[in-house]
Amino acid sequence: MKFPEEKTEFSARSWREHVTVSQELKAKYGTKVLKLSLTSGCTCPNRDGTRGYGGCSFCSQEGSGEFAAPYASVEKQLQAAKQKVDSKFPAGLPVPERKYIAYFQSFSNTYAPVSYLEPLYEEVISRPEIVALSVGTRPDCIPDEILAMLCRLNRKKPVWVELGLQTIHEETARAFNRGYTLPVFEDACKRLKEAGITVVVHVILGLPGETKEDMLKTVRYLADLSPGIDGIKIQMLQILRGSRMGDAWIREPFPLLSAEEYTDLVADCLQILPENIVIHRMTGDPPKNLLIAPAWTADKKRVLNLLQKKIRLRKTEQHL
Ligand code: SF4
Repeated sequence: MKFPEEKTEFSARSWREHVTVSQELKAKYGTKVLKLSLTSGCTCPNRDGTRGYGGCSFCSQEGSGEFAAPYASVEKQLQAAKQKVDSKFPAGLPVPERKYIAYFQSFSNTYAPVSYLEPLYEEVISRPEIVALSVGTRPDCIPDEILAMLCRLNRKKPVWVELGLQTIHEETARAFNRGYTLPVFEDACKRLKEAGITVVVHVILGLPGETKEDMLKTVRYLADLSPGIDGIKIQMLQILRGSRMGDAWIREPFPLLSAEEYTDLVADCLQILPENIVIHRMTGDPPKNLLIAPAWTADKKRVLNLLQKKIRLRKTEQHL
């Protein structure tokens, strides 16, 4: 995908220093805090016909939850997830001092009755090593009784709700079958914020049909939202095996952003976002066995290095 050369407002804007979620957590808990990918066993209303069929066209068979162990008891899932991530703790850190976030990522983790969800989440947050609960869901899956449950949990341990917005543009959202409109997101966001819940929003760059300006408009909208969101996850569109978009791409490939274009865009996003929005993700980490394209997204380290170079360059240019 090639964007036309254009002078943007970003060259004139002073660089903003953002905090990443790992920096924020380390400052708060005095140690690295790692995410444990878990599965609640919920499905998604955009797949079972309640909101739509087939789901978002980029979504994998596992509902973006390939890193969690297939649904098992909470105890087994926690053990398996800890085994996966524990090598990242500083050498010698005793087990009781390790801290984690319980991250329910796959499908829509508020799409079940409170009587099922609350004991599950209670059990997880009752563990001393779990410092926060992160729940990925859709904005149309937060009725009042679920919001009340999230508030009760939030009084015990911090609760983050992660909403998959991806874009503010209705035409793009219709094309990938998101199944809800922007006012639905706005309403959920407002109710969650008013209830004191931390809100993290997911955005995808490179969705078919979107221009650079379209993508930056989404980020500008989130930057200006009131009440403001707390965090953002930005990632490149990944074409995955087993998704409807994957099947369509194999039949007829469409252009995707290069690593250069993507990292330029992320640097633009960082210049738009206010410092108080915590950066939770700047590039995705696709399940490599499912990734069809773009191949560069599999090398997270390279993408982050490229992005750091661009950030340094922009900071230098600003001081010239
Ligand atoms: S709402 Fe989430 S889980 Fe459901 S289809 Fe879309 S991306 Fe997948």
